[in-house]
Amino acid sequence: MKITYIAHSGFLAELEHTLLLFDYYQGELPAFPGDKELFVFASHRHPDHFNPDIFRLAEGRENIFFVLSHDIWKSRVPEGQKDRTVHLKAGEEWSRSGVMVKTLRSTDEGVAFLVQAEEKTLYHAGDLNDWRWDGEEEDWNRRMAEKFRRYIEPLRGVRMDAAFVPLDPRQEEHYSLGLDYFLTLADYRNPREGAEKIYPMHCWDDYGIIERWLSEHSDSPAADRIVRILGRGEAFIQ
Ligand SMILES: [Zn+2]
Repeated sequence: MKITYIAHSGFLAELEHTLLLFDYYQGELPAFPGDKELFVFASHRHPDHFNPDIFRLAEGRENIFFVLSHDIWKSRVPEGQKDRTVHLKAGEEWSRSGVMVKTLRSTDEGVAFLVQAEEKTLYHAGDLNDWRWDGEEEDWNRRMAEKFRRYIEPLRGVRMDAAFVPLDPRQEEHYSLGLDYFLTLADYRNPREGAEKIYPMHCWDDYGIIERWLSEHSDSPAADRIVRILGRGEAFIQ
């Protein structure tokens, strides 16, 4: 499987027969081999996760399908693409041509995606994260942590090949709360558990945040599973 980091939370996973594009909103798109079926995911309608330009990928292409969160307005879907589009709510399951999708509820808008295709399992968090902010009411932050732990619970014990998880420098010292909790959902001392590779995302082009996590968690058994992304357009084979 080849994974290309596009920008922000945008990634392309290229499998033998299938292409999975997540949360594209800007950046250079890699080439999409025409013979592979392209599934385009958008976790919610915020402009850093959903760009209506994705529908232009259907120009000259029949084997494409759009998997959108329910909060993305149906009116944004061009008439000609409506029969190639599904809107999913949280907690739904959906499948097509061997690609199986489960959705988790987000602590922000929309959903997170757990996708199985060609024996691979991928998780894309969207904005499902522990959004603790200095300056918010303590009660709000506490409820956020509770919701986050509840919404992400379906991932406990799930073996994943790739997980795309927020690491957001705007949260300052709370930047890794979501990722750190995610890592408690499996035993990372066991190489067969948890996510094989974890791609930090939602970094606002500040990739030093990944180095910061690695230096602050050098004793973590998951440290070698964290992918060091250095910039847009980088590709990883796994
Ligand atoms: Zn976002």
